[in-house]
Amino acid sequence: MNDGKRQSDLPDVDEKHLLDLLHHNSDWVWEVDAQGRYTWVSGVVHDLLGYEPGYVIGRTPFDFMPPGEAERVAGAFGEIVSQQRAFSGLVNRNMRADGQIVVLETSGIPLFNDRGELTGYRGIDRNISNLGERVLQLETIYDTTPVALCMLDLDGRLVMSNKAMNGLLNISPEEAAGSLLGHLMPDVWQQFQDDFFLVESGVIIPGREIIWRDRCFDTQPVALYNASNRVVGLSVTWVDITARREAEQKLASANQVLQQYAQRDHLTGLYNRRYMDERLMNEINQAVEDGFPLSVCLADIDYFKRYNDNYGHQSGDNCLRAVAKALVSSRRRPEDNVSRYGGEEFLVILPRTDQAQALAEAERLRENINALMLPHVASPTHYLTISIGVATLYACESLSPDTPLHMIASGLIHQADTALYAAKNRGRNQVVAMPENAS
Ligand code: GH3
Ligand code: MG
Ligand code: MG
Repeated sequence: MNDGKRQSDLPDVDEKHLLDLLHHNSDWVWEVDAQGRYTWVSGVVHDLLGYEPGYVIGRTPFDFMPPGEAERVAGAFGEIVSQQRAFSGLVNRNMRADGQIVVLETSGIPLFNDRGELTGYRGIDRNISNLGERVLQLETIYDTTPVALCMLDLDGRLVMSNKAMNGLLNISPEEAAGSLLGHLMPDVWQQFQDDFFLVESGVIIPGREIIWRDRCFDTQPVALYNASNRVVGLSVTWVDITARREAEQKLASANQVLQQYAQRDHLTGLYNRRYMDERLMNEINQAVEDGFPLSVCLADIDYFKRYNDNYGHQSGDNCLRAVAKALVSSRRRPEDNVSRYGGEEFLVILPRTDQAQALAEAERLRENINALMLPHVASPTHYLTISIGVATLYACESLSPDTPLHMIASGLIHQADTALYAAKNRGRNQVVAMPENAS
């Protein structure tokens, strides 16, 4: 041993006192030879591991570790021994004689003979079971979580990064340590730099989505402070939300398709009644706000039952499609919505249209259907015709502000239906508006 000289510098302590210090101390003092076998152990080993010193002598630290732990620690210890250097804070799990796990923090210094050859190590083990188990658990979580975690200093240097973060950056732990985020992710570093300004001005840093190598991450930077409450860096979590975003996009487009189905009549492709009832309420609301009149045309194919009876249901369907197409191409403005309102009934909403304009529009629609010259031998005209009932809402004049929109809408439809009934009664293939003396 080469430590005789240093001992002579120490104040005089008698041997009994010295042994008392070693054996009745909360830390376990030990020495191992160059092969790692215990050559001397203080009595504390009995308290820590439950074995008598005589049992421990000749065994190695690894003989007291549970399966798996010996391999883990051997890696770290092998490196220390090969460099013949001192070490401290090596956390390791050990199994007591009674089977319980005790976590020790080991520190040691190398011992050399006069020729400078390594003869062993001398050190201490401290029981840190309460804290140590916690540290080991946290380390496991830190290294196995799929969430990428990193700590940056004010220069953007990676102070810490877990496995997931190194994977995200596609670099090894050795490359990651101390590397600059400004080099690895220039745009991202720019954003984090801005965050430092936010923290300075007392604002909490908002989370943000970052696209990195075609993947989408939900990131949350949090400011790190030193003991004097100065900002020294950022801790950032990166949650990969690519799959969630893709699923949301699929859902959004599926919803769009569903909405189309929900709004449309499948036979003609026109808006359906459900959509049109909602639309009518919106248009009424708008008309009341703007103070414009609003008209509706309710068109119904004449003698359609006879058409079906003569030509068959399939031809009836084709006829409905032809009428639908003609009505849509006849309208003058895109906002004049055409819908299939019932079996062979069509509703057209005409925003900002008074009764006279609506009558003219309805007349045009009727003429355009006549112009199709669809044969209908069972009709007195021998061609397919429609009748139309027109109703107009003069918003400002006639509405009490308390009347619910759906009541106004159903009142307007009812009026158009009454007009349609009158058109049918008067011989069909014509337009009637209600009330008849309004224009
Ligand atoms: P009016 O001139 O008084 O309107 O007489 P109409 O025969 O047109 O009226 P009615 O209400 O007696 O008959 C309507 C017909 O429309 C009966 C029904 O079979 C037919 N119809 C309703 N929906 C469809 C459909 O989707 N396809 C076909 N082919 N026919 C339909
Ligand atoms: Mg009908
Ligand atoms: Mg009819």
